Amino acid sequence: MRICSLSSGSKGNCIFVESADARVLVDAGISARQISQRLQAIGVDPTSIDAIVLTHAHNDHIRGAGVFARKYGSPIYGHPETLDQMTYFLRKNETIVPWTKAFSIKDLSFAPFEIPHDAFPTVGYSIHQNGKSLVVCTDLGVATRQVEAVLRQADILLIESNHDPDMLMNGPYPWELKERIASRVGHLSNHDTGELLKAVINGRTQQVLLAHLSEINNSPQIALDTVLEYIGYRHEAMVKVLEQRKVSEIFEL
Ligand SMILES: [Zn+2]
Ligand SMILES: [Zn+2]
Repeated sequence: MRICSLSSGSKGNCIFVESADARVLVDAGISARQISQRLQAIGVDPTSIDAIVLTHAHNDHIRGAGVFARKYGSPIYGHPETLDQMTYFLRKNETIVPWTKAFSIKDLSFAPFEIPHDAFPTVGYSIHQNGKSLVVCTDLGVATRQVEAVLRQADILLIESNHDPDMLMNGPYPWELKERIASRVGHLSNHDTGELLKAVINGRTQQVLLAHLSEINNSPQIALDTVLEYIGYRHEAMVKVLEQRKVSEIFEL
């Protein structure tokens, strides 16, 4: 499996996942034009994308899905309620595939798991191929025991590290939004993520990708430093930060 973040952060999310047979986007929260440019930058023809798989119906995850699906013919997979909530982005001529449980796209199998966030439902995905697993888990206010159990099974773990609590509280957002972000159906702070990682990383964990950072209320260096304070600097080589405006390196499993 190969994984590349085309964009990750509060302003838009799109993760490219490739196996021997399949090419999939997890979320399409930047414009279709940006997605196709960033795919081409890593040598991937946008027409070769087999599917767009959605986590939830917030704009920063679905913005480009409809246009990309219409232009390149990629089917959109999502929870039936997520697909119902995004009709504004659809013209009814896309191929829509509602899943109700685990599903496969060619040789990639997807096991969705529910996470607490203020779009209902919101899911993360455990993505398997050849005994290897990538877990994508962003947009959650807290990690439940069940979520922790899924994260322990990841070879590569892509996990939200959304905000620094002091930057959020002292920053420019209106009070209601600050409360929403910090709530149990909002987003994980760097400290939440550090504590969570301390509980879940184990001998299986090869790589941790910090994702969905806020550009306003966080910085890559602060997120990395905070998380490493929890899990220990001996794990430094394992942790990478994904960025909003940059295509990441390609991570291989
Ligand atoms: Zn989001
Ligand atoms: Zn969200």
